[in-house]
Amino acid sequence: MKITRTLYIITVCLLAAAVLSLSAAEKLKVLIVDGQNNHNWRTTTPMLKWILEDCGRFTVAVSTTPPEKSSPDLWKEWHPTFTNYDAVLLNYNGERWPARVNQQFVEYVRNGGGLVVVHAADNAFPDWPEFNDMIAVGGWGGRNEQNGPMIRWRDGKQVLDRTPGDGGTHGAAGPYVVNIIVTNHPITMGLPSGWRHAKDELYGRLRGPCKNFTVLANAFSAKETGGTGEVEPVLLVINYGQGRVFHDVLGHDADSMADTGFQCTLQRGTEWAATGKVTLPAPKPEAMAIDKVVMHQPPR
Ligand code: ZN
Repeated sequence: MKITRTLYIITVCLLAAAVLSLSAAEKLKVLIVDGQNNHNWRTTTPMLKWILEDCGRFTVAVSTTPPEKSSPDLWKEWHPTFTNYDAVLLNYNGERWPARVNQQFVEYVRNGGGLVVVHAADNAFPDWPEFNDMIAVGGWGGRNEQNGPMIRWRDGKQVLDRTPGDGGTHGAAGPYVVNIIVTNHPITMGLPSGWRHAKDELYGRLRGPCKNFTVLANAFSAKETGGTGEVEPVLLVINYGQGRVFHDVLGHDADSMADTGFQCTLQRGTEWAATGKVTLPAPKPEAMAIDKVVMHQPPR
């Protein structure tokens, strides 16, 4: 009798371990790349990692580049293996990477790897054509009309505006409404038509090659707060080869990542970039309210 009971307990434990290891294996692997940024990547990377892991769908690793002006020898020691991950999230705005890493990165996305680009990562690499194709539009770094058009809305239609001028600007940070304009994409399916986003910068006049992209959400940049007086794209998806890119223009700092709308769209966008599908359920409507910012902070 005792042996039977012991065997029973062992079997239950083995089954439980199998279920646990299965769920770990089913999680999507994400690699955050950081290390140089004119933004505080030391506080935003842990926030991004928490947001992704909080929904239970991802495990997140971090690869930090050498700091600015490092020796080539130090760069030689930095060799992230992109192909070990379902998606790569760029929280990086800094020096060009070594040529071999650039090549591996382009091959990774072209062959079907997922890419997520957050906020100032779209300021990076103005002179890297493949990267600019991946992000559709970017800002600063000397970008101007030579880098491509801006995305604009005229008479209710999305158009490409080739008016000459610098690419990249923002007014004073504040809370603003993000409008979801494509509702039948896996990332936005079942979400409300918009939400009030936490205090953040709103990038304007982003410019780029604008190839194979869809704007999922935009926001109005008010002139009174130093903005462009235009509707600006804030959530984009781009196809690059076999790869899928989720370009999230939002997220200046950890506080601007602390609202549930930002978190939900980042989680769903990352899942889509990794797999082409979204299984994460839409949050309750009150979690993405339009009349107030709903915050969700990590436990301290
Ligand atoms: Zn910023």
